[in-house]
Amino acid sequence: MRPIKLLFAILTVIGFTGCQTGPEKGEITKIDASNIENYCLLHDVTVSDDGLLLKNPASSMTSQFNVRNFELTVKLKTTAGAEGLLIFAATNAASTADGYEVRINNSDYRTGNLQKTGSLSRVRNNFVRTAVDDQWFTLGVTVEANHIKVVVNDKTISEYDEPTNVIRASDISGRILTQGRVVIRRSNGDGEILVQEITIKPLDDLPGVQTGLAAADSLTKVVDLLNEQEFPLIDFHTHLKGGLTMDQAVKHAQLIGCNYGVAANCGLKFPVTNDSTLNAYYNNISKEPVFKAMQCEGREWVTLFSPKAIAQFDYIFTDAMTWTDLKGRRMRLWIPEETFVDDEQKFMDMLVGKIESELSQEPVDIHANPTYLPAKLAPDYDRLWTPERMDRVIKVLKDYDVALEINARFKIPSIAFIQRARAAGVKFSLGTNNGSNNDLGRLEYCLKAIKEAGLTKTDMFIPRPANDKKVIKSGLPAKITG
Ligand SMILES: [Zn+2]
Repeated sequence: MRPIKLLFAILTVIGFTGCQTGPEKGEITKIDASNIENYCLLHDVTVSDDGLLLKNPASSMTSQFNVRNFELTVKLKTTAGAEGLLIFAATNAASTADGYEVRINNSDYRTGNLQKTGSLSRVRNNFVRTAVDDQWFTLGVTVEANHIKVVVNDKTISEYDEPTNVIRASDISGRILTQGRVVIRRSNGDGEILVQEITIKPLDDLPGVQTGLAAADSLTKVVDLLNEQEFPLIDFHTHLKGGLTMDQAVKHAQLIGCNYGVAANCGLKFPVTNDSTLNAYYNNISKEPVFKAMQCEGREWVTLFSPKAIAQFDYIFTDAMTWTDLKGRRMRLWIPEETFVDDEQKFMDMLVGKIESELSQEPVDIHANPTYLPAKLAPDYDRLWTPERMDRVIKVLKDYDVALEINARFKIPSIAFIQRARAAGVKFSLGTNNGSNNDLGRLEYCLKAIKEAGLTKTDMFIPRPANDKKVIKSGLPAKITG
């Protein structure tokens, strides 16, 4: 053992045996500025009446006690840009490979780390903003047997069952449940983190608990690996349809190891059809741990809502399944009685023209259900989506910074289309477009496409920050686009 390592080991032993004033099992212990030094080693932390200030990149507080099963809450506040970690099951606080990490990061999208507060980092990532800077929030972690639950302000953000014989990447090989310390530390140098109060209740050692999370199978392995790679595994296209509740949707996302974006269908003859119904919908879901989305329906939507009401949403999207043809017939391509294909080649050219018109004028972030063909033409998808037609769609996506959805329900676009779009630098989103409460699935086609097209995290769409919304910057078109 090298001298410095030996010294560290000795200090660790002294630290553990010398000050073992650990909280009692089954009892809630409150830790704050008044008694922190009885329980934690502080490094570069300022103790004040407001709480414990972690101001510098190296600021940290490390429990002097070890704990295996516990309920923990931390009341804290961040200022702009501040990022930190809540670490548990840490047996060596000097190693970043050791223990589980929960992210503290309330920055806007496309700012700072992609993972936001409550993310069980690289195990079950969370990309949704769950708290905001300059406001107190509570971060909770419960560990019971092999089950981990992370909660922010009473909303469950991540849940995970650690499998037996878990295998991790070498740089996080110590991310395994064990008796260990709890650490709160900074992970960047911007802003400040203030900790007001910590509560901890050590729990009895329990046999494995049944949580109902998905049993490990071949899909779980793919999902685990993508989480480990920090791939933004986000289903941006789900709906609360057919009786599906928000709680059920969130639970399902956690069960399968991804995040959800939940969209209201907004447009002519839809329940959300003006600013007042749109605002009411938004206010109802604003605290939920999902991305909030508008699916803009038909072409008339641009005349129904104001930019201000639209810009509350994390992102907006539309498809090219509803438009009016050259003979003035309003078509909905998924309804055979409303779809008119007089000439398949002319129809295809008209469809591509509609997509170009729509995506170049409507300030949308994602092109959903892309390359969808009416049932009559779908069997000839590969023949009708010629390289020239693909390239026209790819060009408008690229020129207007619109992401291309990989749609799990319709299994579109084709892998060939995705590969071609990727080569051109188009960004992608994943979307299920469920029609009810029993067809959410597990993103099967999306996972296949990620693998076959070799998509990485930098290929993926992330919502724009508040100051960069397309609808605010470019407004809405004066008349409908098609
Ligand atoms: Zn939809």
